[in-house]
Parts: sequence; C-alpha cells; structure tokens
Amino acid sequence: MASKVRLFIDTPLALEQIIELSETQSHYLSNVMKLKLNDKFLGFDGKSGEYELQITQLAKKHLEAKVIQKQKSFQTPPDVWLLFAPVKKDQTDFIIQKAVELGVCKLIPTITRYTISDKTKTERFVAQSIEAAEQCRRVDIPQVLPAKSLSEILSNWDKTRPLYYMDESRTGLPVKDAFSAAPAPIALLVGPEGGFSKEELKLLRQLDFATGVTLGPRILRAETAVVAALSCWQALSGDWVNYKEQNECDF
Ligand code: SAH
Repeated sequence: MASKVRLFIDTPLALEQIIELSETQSHYLSNVMKLKLNDKFLGFDGKSGEYELQITQLAKKHLEAKVIQKQKSFQTPPDVWLLFAPVKKDQTDFIIQKAVELGVCKLIPTITRYTISDKTKTERFVAQSIEAAEQCRRVDIPQVLPAKSLSEILSNWDKTRPLYYMDESRTGLPVKDAFSAAPAPIALLVGPEGGFSKEELKLLRQLDFATGVTLGPRILRAETAVVAALSCWQALSGDWVNYKEQNECDF
C-alpha cells in the first residue's frame, strides 16, 4: 500500500472536528497530491498524536477535512539536543533534516569562531524541521531555537545536561566509551567546516559538564559528523536500543 499523505496541522486536533486547511496545504493536497472529496490523509498537531482525516469540502484554495480516527498516541523522542554550527545552505538543510529523522528534540544553531555562514534563518530551519517530521512519521515537532553564540550557550548551560562535543583533534573518548552509558537528557555539539578554534577547544576541555568524543580516525564533514554522532548515540543509549515496532505496520 502506498503510504498516505501526512501533514503537520498547526491547530489542536480532536475526533469529529472539522479542520480548515491553510491555502498552502489546500493547494498541496488538491493540486499536488491530487486528493479528491472523501479522500483520507494523516495529520498530526505536534501535541496530541496522529489522526486520519477525510476531505469534506474541496474548493480551489480552500479545503476542509474531518478528523475521523486516532491513529497514534503522542510520544516524544529521547531528550537529546543538537548544537550545530550552520554551514552552507544545502548542508544546513541536510543537517536539520537528518537530525529530525534521527530523533533530535531541540536544534540549536550555534555560532562559533569559524562559522562562516550568516544564513541562520530560524524560519527556514523551522520549515525544514516540520517537513522532516512529516516525512519520518514523528508525531512531535522538534523545537528550533534562534542562533546563539557558543560562548553564550556555554555560560548559561544547565550543568545537569551532559554536553558531548565532537572533537576533530580525535583526542576525545571513542564513541563506544562516550555513549554506552549516556542516557538522555544529553546534548551533542558539532563544529563548523573550519572546525573549532584552539580557544574553543581549550574552553570546552575545561568544562566539567562537557566531554570530547572521537568519531573514528578520519575527519568528517560537519554534516557527516552530525549524522554519525546522532546514530551512534541512538544505537548505544537512545531509542534504537532494543527497539522493535509494536504496532501493526502498513509496509
Ligand atoms: N576543518 C577541520 C575539520 C572540521 S570537521 C579540520 O580540518 O580539522 C567539522 C566538525 O565535525 C568538527 O568541528 C567536529 O565537531 C566534527 N568532526 C569531524 N570529524 C571528526 C572526528 N573524526 N571526530 C570527532 N569529531 C569530528
């Protein structure tokens, strides 16, 4: 069975309710996905789970749908934050998309000494994260914070949340040692393409809530490091550990 269209709907959903879709979503459902009157699609509001909706009214730019069935209850992924230095546009989109798929619950664009990108458009990051959540069947929407400098973030850090920084000098802990017993809440920090400055590494090494991690012998691009770090953490201490789908699956 082809998988159903799935949309984030920015209004609280409840059974029997009639929902008016935005102009953009109406256009997407009727003109792009070619859905017709009475067709069904999935919707989630980021707070109460996933529902099946049925189209009850279909005009050119105005679509209404009724919430007919609850499909999934609300759940959130483990409490893992990603601090990433924005890179070029496409690679930053990639970072956001993959981080959402890999179950990050908060994204914090972090400006470091060698962050060259000034393209820290929070709105764009939010749109990217919603699209990724729709695609990967999350029922929550990860939070995206406005960009902040690394020094500001570190000076306000809640020390009960361990911070693991990916250290390209490769003198930190091997992933298995770092992540085998590193339950959430945690945060992961990945540097920009230029890497961390000497001063930043010196500062990070002095912080008792921060641990340097080595992602193997090779130097990875920032976006690869994000995917590698999150995958390793999910597999060793996150929600990949012992995961097996309990619900009936449509594929
Ligand atoms: N230009 C730098 C590399 C930066 S790589 C250099 O040549 O040294 C971008 C970011 O990815 C780094 O800041 C680091 O956070 C992460 N990274 C890349 N390879 C890594 C590795 N082998 N171990 C740990 N972190 C790594």
